[in-house]
Amino acid sequence: MGTQEQHTRFSPTKAAISLDFAEHLKYSLDADEFHNTDITRYTALAYAIRDRIIHQWHKSRETQRETGSKRVYYLSLEFLMGRAMTNNIINLGLENEVKDAMADLGYAYEELAEVEPDAGLGNGGLGRLAACFLDSLATLDIPSYGYGIRYNYGIFKQQVRNGWQTEQPDNWLRHGNPWEIAREDIIFTVGFGGEVRTLRESGRDQYTWISADQVQGVAYDMPIVGYGGKTVNTLRLWSAKATDEFNFQEFNEGDYVEAVRSKILAENLSQVLYPNDTLYMGKELRLKQQYFFVACSLADIVRRFKRQETSWKELPKFAAIQLNDTHPSLAIPELMRILIDLEHLEWEEAWDITVRTMGYTNHTLMPEALEKWPLTMLESILPRHLQIIFEINHRFLQHAVSFFPLRPQAIERLSIVEEGPSKQIRMANLSIIGSHSTNGVAELHSRLLTERMFPEFSVVFPDRFNNKTNGITQRRWLLDANPLLASKISEAIGDGWITDYERIKDLEPFAEDANFRTDFLTIKQKAKEHAVEFIKKDCGLILRPDSMFDVQVKRIHEYKRQLLNALNIILLYQRIKEGRIQDFSPTTFIFGGKAAPGYVNAKLIIKLINNIAKVINDDSAVRELISVHFLPNYRVTMAERLIPATDLSEQISTAGFEASGTGNMKFMCNGALTIGTMDGATVEMAEEVGRQHMFIFGHSADEIERMRAQYDPYEWITRDPEIRKVMDLFLSGYFNVMEPHIFDPLRQSLLNEDRYFHFADLRSYADSHDEATFLYTNNKDAWAKKAILNIAASGKFSSDRTIMEYANDIWKTRRVPIDRDQSASSTLKAARKK
Ligand SMILES: *Cc1c(COP(=O)(O)O)cnc(C)c1O
Repeated sequence: MGTQEQHTRFSPTKAAISLDFAEHLKYSLDADEFHNTDITRYTALAYAIRDRIIHQWHKSRETQRETGSKRVYYLSLEFLMGRAMTNNIINLGLENEVKDAMADLGYAYEELAEVEPDAGLGNGGLGRLAACFLDSLATLDIPSYGYGIRYNYGIFKQQVRNGWQTEQPDNWLRHGNPWEIAREDIIFTVGFGGEVRTLRESGRDQYTWISADQVQGVAYDMPIVGYGGKTVNTLRLWSAKATDEFNFQEFNEGDYVEAVRSKILAENLSQVLYPNDTLYMGKELRLKQQYFFVACSLADIVRRFKRQETSWKELPKFAAIQLNDTHPSLAIPELMRILIDLEHLEWEEAWDITVRTMGYTNHTLMPEALEKWPLTMLESILPRHLQIIFEINHRFLQHAVSFFPLRPQAIERLSIVEEGPSKQIRMANLSIIGSHSTNGVAELHSRLLTERMFPEFSVVFPDRFNNKTNGITQRRWLLDANPLLASKISEAIGDGWITDYERIKDLEPFAEDANFRTDFLTIKQKAKEHAVEFIKKDCGLILRPDSMFDVQVKRIHEYKRQLLNALNIILLYQRIKEGRIQDFSPTTFIFGGKAAPGYVNAKLIIKLINNIAKVINDDSAVRELISVHFLPNYRVTMAERLIPATDLSEQISTAGFEASGTGNMKFMCNGALTIGTMDGATVEMAEEVGRQHMFIFGHSADEIERMRAQYDPYEWITRDPEIRKVMDLFLSGYFNVMEPHIFDPLRQSLLNEDRYFHFADLRSYADSHDEATFLYTNNKDAWAKKAILNIAASGKFSSDRTIMEYANDIWKTRRVPIDRDQSASSTLKAARKK
C-alpha cells in the first residue's frame, strides 16, 4: 500500500478528494481500520464525488427557475441507469484526479467502482433509452426532469442452473444508495378506489372523487450530470409510503397487526419492477403503479407551475410532458381531472391545455404489446378517470365520424373502448387522442405505425404523427466503455465528437490509414482481453480472446430470433462434424439476455442455447472452431464490457417487429460489423454506412407482410437439404438426450406456425454469416476498414441528435446554459436561518 504515492502528481483537486474521501469514511460512515469494507470505501468515494455535484445541481435549478424556462418532463416507468460513479466522474472531468487520489491512499479506483450495483430499474431498450435521454438532456443544457418509480427491487438477477434461467431478487438498495437524496418534504397523497360525487353548482356539474384508500409518494432525487459538469438535472423517483394516519379505524378498534399489515400493502406499490419487456400484463398492481407515479409527478409539475403565478392556458409554455410508451398515459385523464375538478376550468380549455402539453412515444409494432385495461378494473380503482376517459372518447368519436361516414369498423378501431364480452380501455388510443404528437422510434417503425397499426388515426390526425429515430449516448457507450478506442479517435480527429457526435464522420479518411487500422485491431484485441477477464470474474466462464466474438445480447424474445442464431450454430456444427468447413477462424458465439419469468418459449430458448453449448464445448474436435456461451445476468455493466470486445453484432429480428433497437447502435460506434435484417434503425445504419459495409440478409418488412397469408415453414425446411438436416438433428432430441420432450413447445411453434419466419430467412442468414466469417478469416485488414467506416458513419445515432429533434419539433424547448462555478461561497448563506 502507498507504493504508488510517489507516482502521482500534486494537484489541489486530488488532495481535496483524498481528504473528503477520508473524512466521509470517518465522519459519515464511522469506518476505521477495523470496520472498513470495500462497500464503505466505495460509499465514501461516492459521497466525495457527490459533494462536487451538489453545487451545480443547486445552481442549475436556480437558473432554470429564474429564467422561467420551459421544462421537459420525461415520464417513464423504467430507467435502466446502470452504474453512476464512473459516468459522473468522467462527466465532471475528474477521472485523473480521482484515480490519483485513490492511488495515493493505496486503492485502485477501478476496483472501488466495481462495488456499485447497477441501478436496474428497467427491462431493456425502453428503459435504457430513457437513461440515455437524461444524459443528453443534461449535456445539452435542457431543463428537464425524469420521473419514475424508485423500485426497491429492480430487474431480477438471472442465474442459470442446469441450463435453465432462474430469477433472484435484485435488492440493489441493500447497502444504501449514495447517489440519491430523499426529499421527505416533497410528498404527495395519491387516492385509489372510492366513488365520484356529483354536485350541480351554478349550472355546471362539479365532480368530486372521494377515494377509499390513500398512499403517499416520497421523492428521491438522483443528480444527472451533463458532460462538462455544468448542467445537473434531476431524476425524481417516487417511493410509496403509507399515510401517517393509516387505517385509523382498525387501529382504534384494536387490530394493530391488521393496521400494520395494510401499511405494508400500501408500500408494495413501489416494491418491484414488472419484468416483462414488450408484453403487457393486465395486473392490478401494475395499474396502481402507473397511476401512483403519474399522480405524484403531475402534482409536482403543477406545484412548480403554480409558482409562476400565471394563467393555466400558459401551462404548455412552461411544461412539455413526454410519455415513454403508454405506461404513463393516465397522465392525460389525471391532468384533465386536476384542471376541471380541482381548478374548475371548462372542459374545452382543459382539453386544449392537456393536448398541447402531452407528447406520446410509441415503442412497438406488436398488437399484443399494446396496453389495455379491463374497464371494470379501471372503474374500481380510478372511477373518476374512467368517467373522463368516456367523455374524451365520446367527444373524439363525434369528431372522427365525419372522416369515416358509413364505416362503423373504422370508428370501432378508433374508439378508446374495445367492445366485446369484457370491455377494455385501449391506452394507445387514449395517448394518441390526448397528445399533440405521436412518434415512432425509427423511420420504418414510424411508417408502419401509420400504415399498419393506426391507419385511421393518421387520417384523423395527419399532422400528429412523426418520427424520432432513437439514439444512444456516446459518452457512456464509447467514451466511458471503450477508453482506448475513444482516445485513439480523439487523437485522430480531436475530442469534439464527445459533445458533437456528427464530428465522428471526420474519422472516415482514417479507414484508408494502414497504421490506424492496425491500431484499431490492437485496441479490439485489448477490449477482448478485458471482457474475458470480466466474464471470468462475473460468471466463471473462460472465453478465448484469440477468437472472433459473435455477440447477440438483448432481451430473449421470439421476434428477436435468438433461435435463428442457434439454428445456424447447429448448421455449422454439422458442417464441422462432416468435415465440410474451410476458411473458418475460431468463433466464440456469445449470448446474453433475460427472459420474462412467465414467458415459456423464451426460457426454453435459453435452455436450448445452453444445451447446444454443452454439446459443442464438450466436443474437443468442434470447440477448436466454435464455442458457445450464454452469459448469465446481462445488464448495462456487462454490456459496457462486452460491446467494445465484439467483432460481429447480431441484429436479426424478423423485419417489421423491432421498433428501433439501440443495441445495434452501441455495437456500431464500437467498431463491430453488423449482421442483420432490414428492421428498425438497422435500416438507417445501412443507409448511413452503405449496405456493402454490413451483412444484410433476409426478407424485408413488406415482403414478410406479403408472405404471411401463404407462409408454410414446412415448405422452406424441406426445400433446403442442409436446413432439413438441421431440423432433423434438433427434432431427433440430439440436444436433450437425457431430457426428453423439453423442447416440444419450441418445436411446435416453429413447425406449426413459425410466426417469426425463421425458415424463410435461415438460408440467407447462414450465407451472410459465411460471408462475415470469410472476410474475418481471410482479410482482417479489410474487416478493420469496414469497422472504421461503421464508426465514422454512426454520427446519426447519438441521443444528442434525437433529443435536439424532440426539443425542436415536439417540446419547443431551449437550452439554458449553466456556468460552472468552482467557488461554493454561498454555502453558509444558504444554511443561515431565514
Ligand atoms: C441497449 C440495451 C438493451 C437494448 O438492446 P436491443 O438490442 O436494442 O434490444 C437491452 N439491455 C441492455 C442492458 C442494454 O444496454
